[in-house]
Amino acid sequence: MVKPGDDQTDKDGQEAASQQQAGEKRICDLLDEIYELEQFRREQFIFRKLSSYLKSAFTASEAHTAIECYGPQLWPTATGTVYLLHATGDYLERAASWGDASLTHESLSWQDCWAMRNLRPHGVRDKGSEILCRHTAQASASLPSLCVPLVAQGQMLGLFHLQHLKNVPDTSQNEAPADPGLALAVAVAEDLSLAHANMRLRESLREQSTRDALTGLFNRRFVDEFLVRELARAERKSRQLSMIALDIDHFKRINDSFGHGAGDAVLQKVGIILRAHVRDTDVASRIGGEEFLLLLSESPLPLAAKRAEDIRTAISGMSMKYKNEDLGRITASFGAVAFPDHGRTAEALIRAADKALYDAKHAGRNQVVSARLPN
Ligand code: GH3
Ligand code: MG
Ligand code: MG
Repeated sequence: MVKPGDDQTDKDGQEAASQQQAGEKRICDLLDEIYELEQFRREQFIFRKLSSYLKSAFTASEAHTAIECYGPQLWPTATGTVYLLHATGDYLERAASWGDASLTHESLSWQDCWAMRNLRPHGVRDKGSEILCRHTAQASASLPSLCVPLVAQGQMLGLFHLQHLKNVPDTSQNEAPADPGLALAVAVAEDLSLAHANMRLRESLREQSTRDALTGLFNRRFVDEFLVRELARAERKSRQLSMIALDIDHFKRINDSFGHGAGDAVLQKVGIILRAHVRDTDVASRIGGEEFLLLLSESPLPLAAKRAEDIRTAISGMSMKYKNEDLGRITASFGAVAFPDHGRTAEALIRAADKALYDAKHAGRNQVVSARLPN
């Protein structure tokens, strides 16, 4: 027979036990929340560090070193790859990666990635219910993967790809911004895109500031900077460096007879000839109106004089028409000098080359004069 008092005692005991369970659950939930907050705080700390490196990167290699350092800290269980679109725009090339090398490709076709095709992130949590990109199909795709396109100013730059992500909360019901895993990847991809766009802009400004717009040859500013560097190197290593000054003969007559446009066309054609006659290590520049300077690294004077003679022959042998009018024979005069015989500084060398060129003009133009050795 059950006593009323015993029944009450059981009920009290059950209530106390369930209260204790509820309390324990609350503590567990709170601990989980604290852990998640701590994870988030740590993630944000690493992200800010990565972001600051990406913003101040001068070169692609600096940006990629940063992502290879902080990527594994942000996604410790994932394999990450940064692909950049090749200059031809045809395919993506691996620029940086971490994790399992077998899950990344050296290159891949951008058409094989849904994110690249749609220019928006493409995440796959479950390969049974979502469409895999072709480039991830080979990988064991039982774990999620995420592709985020790298885009700046509407231009496709590349792809940020994460494979085998673990512990990403299920956000299949949510839009992209609500997904913390995706939001972090998108934020990193945005910083990467910005870093690359900045580098391209910087490179194009640098290129513009060192090039002559009409001929595409280097300009005077570049020559001055190059000579400071190159002469110091030549001095240190006892190397030779030669210089050819070139001036088109009676250029004013071309302008006067056929117009400024014809003169410009001649300058461009001479630019093409000069470029065809220098090696990658040499510098072909336009330093003034119809005046050019060639810098030949590690070349002695006789070699420079031979190169000048080849260019002289090429220019005098070219036939040029402008708006169907024959421009007649075009010639140029040349002065050749070498370091250190004719000068140890940029100013002294250029002065000596100008003097040799002046001698060529006075001797009848269309010829090469090599500076004589100082007594
Ligand atoms: P010389 O044989 O003694 O060198 O005579 P020249 O006529 O070549 O030399 P001069 O210095 O008298 O004339 C150079 C001309 O080049 C004058 C200038 O109008 C022209 N010029 C300078 N820059 C440009 C340019 O960018 N385009 C064109 N078309 N002409 C230019
Ligand atoms: Mg001149
Ligand atoms: Mg001239």
